[in-house]
Amino acid sequence: MVHVSFPYSAPVSQTLFDRAAAVTPGGVNSPVRAFRAVGGTPRFMVSGTGPYLTDADGREYVDLVCSWGPMILGHSRPEVTAAVQEAVARGTSFGTPGEGEVALAEEIVDRIAPVEQVRLVSSGTEATMSAIRLARGFTGRAKVIKFAGCYHGHVDALLASAGSGVATLGLPDTPGVTGAQAGDTIVLPYNDLEAVHEAFHTHPGEIACVITEASPGNMGVVPPRPGFNEGLKSACAKNGALYISDEVMTGFRTSKAGWFGVDGVTPDLMTFGKVMGGGFPAAAFGGRADVMGHLAPVGPVYQAGTLSGNPIATAAGLAQLRLLDDAAYEKVDAVSAELRGLVSEALHKEGVAHRVQNASNMFSVFFTDREVRNYDDAKSQESFRFTAFFHSMLSQGVYLPPSAFESWFVSTAHDERAVERVAAALPAAARAAAVATNSPEATA
Ligand code: PLP
Repeated sequence: MVHVSFPYSAPVSQTLFDRAAAVTPGGVNSPVRAFRAVGGTPRFMVSGTGPYLTDADGREYVDLVCSWGPMILGHSRPEVTAAVQEAVARGTSFGTPGEGEVALAEEIVDRIAPVEQVRLVSSGTEATMSAIRLARGFTGRAKVIKFAGCYHGHVDALLASAGSGVATLGLPDTPGVTGAQAGDTIVLPYNDLEAVHEAFHTHPGEIACVITEASPGNMGVVPPRPGFNEGLKSACAKNGALYISDEVMTGFRTSKAGWFGVDGVTPDLMTFGKVMGGGFPAAAFGGRADVMGHLAPVGPVYQAGTLSGNPIATAAGLAQLRLLDDAAYEKVDAVSAELRGLVSEALHKEGVAHRVQNASNMFSVFFTDREVRNYDDAKSQESFRFTAFFHSMLSQGVYLPPSAFESWFVSTAHDERAVERVAAALPAAARAAAVATNSPEATA
């Protein structure tokens, strides 16, 4: 148990949290929001503008979470807001095809060469769940390879050794997932091609697909080692399995064409979410036309959604994607590089062992001096130092992900003033991390 003193209270957030806890399990609608790993009161946010969030107690924060990735243009970007307002005024859901869906699908197909056809859904979880079903339907095989520490949403078969909240909360494999649902999932260590070859060797003709985060961000940022994604692709091709690249987090963020735009490895299927929804529930899966052609109504693999391709979500997503040109990515990459340098400098000054790892503009800080290549490495960090660091930053008005196992996100709206505010907070936070201890008596 790590003891941390919370530098100030947040009475309105606390009152809201108490109300929430009475009617919602743990007071939240998605577990990592609850601050369980770091302690203290989760901040209830009431508004966001550019790089800033304001909480219910009236405090402003530089936001380094960006809604866990989607808000790559910052909050309340006028063009996105206008597109949403214009769409809302025309009606909120029709349950029929609409032009916005076509335009969003065209934008995705234009940007990402391996995507010949795409289907829109409402969450990243739906996207990965549907891609897995399609891979199984297409190949007529049952087994799926996934990697420890990768998170693909709360799909039953994919929760085994998952990252994100499952990692943050240190949960064992989730009760409620039956042996039958998990029995066809093979979990392997990330960045270990030998293990992949071995699994194909042990289960000849049984593996439908390998699903991997294109560049993982859910055990902290742990990029694929050179050749890893290529190796997955060729192992799949050799063994008649599909290679599914989960770009829910990296898609439209790590470059104009996501991680595919960085490493150029062509998957059979890809999944998207977050950035493509502009802050609304929109996600997608797509890829080879011959595989996508197995989906209903053309083919036999069923998949559907009442709100899929919702006109407000597609308008927001399209408006956001159309603003994401080369200059926008240069801006986000530059802000990320600057912040990475500042964080590292502050921790070095205090003699805190750390590694800042990045995948283009996604980055996270591990409190260890060793390279983090997989989930076991990530878990071996001194995460109690992160807890102290997090609360110091929070008390100084910088909102970090409340977990040592998550990526930090920045946006085009993070300007010099926002960066200066982060820089000003870092020395005290680094100091807090330096003096933090893992003993029950200690107070950092
Ligand atoms: N895949 C990845 C790589 C993710 O990071 C996430 C969410 O963080 C998901 C899938 C699930 O997306 P959603 O939360 O929209 O269901």
